[in-house]
Amino acid sequence: MHKHTSLVQFTAEDNDPYRASSVPIYQTATFRLDHLDSNQEYDYTRSGNPTRSAVEKQVAVLENGRFGFGFTSGMAAINALSGIIKANEHIIVADDLYGGTHRLLHKRLITHRNIEVSVVDINNHDQFLQAFKPNTRMVLLETPSNPLHKIVDIAQIAEITAAKNVLLAIDNTFLSPWLQQPLNLGADIVIHSATKFLSGTGDVSGGFLVVNNAKLADEIKFIQNAEGSALAPFDAWLILRGIKTLGLRVERQQANALAVLEYLKTVPVIDRLFYPTLSHNYNPTLTQASGSGSLISFTTNNQFLSEQIINNLSLFNITVSFGSVHSSISMPARMSHASIDKHLRHIPEDLLRLSIGIEDSNDLIADLATAISQATIRGL
Ligand SMILES: *Cc1c(COP(=O)(O)O)cnc(C)c1O
Repeated sequence: MHKHTSLVQFTAEDNDPYRASSVPIYQTATFRLDHLDSNQEYDYTRSGNPTRSAVEKQVAVLENGRFGFGFTSGMAAINALSGIIKANEHIIVADDLYGGTHRLLHKRLITHRNIEVSVVDINNHDQFLQAFKPNTRMVLLETPSNPLHKIVDIAQIAEITAAKNVLLAIDNTFLSPWLQQPLNLGADIVIHSATKFLSGTGDVSGGFLVVNNAKLADEIKFIQNAEGSALAPFDAWLILRGIKTLGLRVERQQANALAVLEYLKTVPVIDRLFYPTLSHNYNPTLTQASGSGSLISFTTNNQFLSEQIINNLSLFNITVSFGSVHSSISMPARMSHASIDKHLRHIPEDLLRLSIGIEDSNDLIADLATAISQATIRGL
């Protein structure tokens, strides 16, 4: 089956007595046991729920992985993953990570759980190799990174981590499994914030981990149950519904983004444009992703002008998130990445990040053109 077909043809189980064509929402906390010693698949929703199992299986299929785990948010997924790291063990992380991940690392894992963290430029080979220690357990990175679109060669890094017996975790939120499948390239763990592309409508929070290794899966399953951070049945169902249109959405959003990008290239007040194909380390022969996605960042070299552009847009929602069918804009230094201390933040203060939706690209470009011209007048 081709990708678009398998998205809609997916069925988790075919044992529904009423042959429901949409996975039902098992909105229940408990499942009645047949008898005291019953060894049923489901007994308590924190431990397992059929609606959650369905979406976990679907996300695992999308990532070409064996085991999927759903959590209440992307951060809950990353926190659960951190549960496999013990005190005094060490992890290496990329220097351009989502702000919430940075906060979890620096204000919880280092300070409260005694986990060692080294922040490195993964593409700086010497710096990366020197960061490994005898107690290193995991490397965590995003590619393309958010919002600066730095690209890391996943297969090359996976070769290094495998040789050192260190786990490689890739946060694949930015491109979604539609455009990139890190497990195929040698990663051990894939992370998702389902709040973004997987659900696609900005109406639900969720997160996932996908792995191939059964022992690692058992560990994550234990943490999910022990800590009680699993995705709720209704949210699981919303994400299942969203995933049916993942391919249509991602491709339409990407096509719109390319149109918007062409327009932005012609705008004189734009200083730097960030998109994977424009990245300084973009390599067209690196075929790890089948597309570049629908996020575009740019600077104006003038914070006031950037603020005016945001405030003069009417079709773009000002929201922290991305990946929705509705276009949005954010100022990462003041929003999603504000939790990173200023001296550690690599993001320009005037940077704007667009998340392009499924609207007509002509309307989006017209809205941007109006906002930029109004902002330029006010900025003078
Ligand atoms: C949003 C995001 C997260 C966190 O996910 P939540 O669902 O907001 O908790 C993690 N990583 C990346 C790359 C994200 O964009």
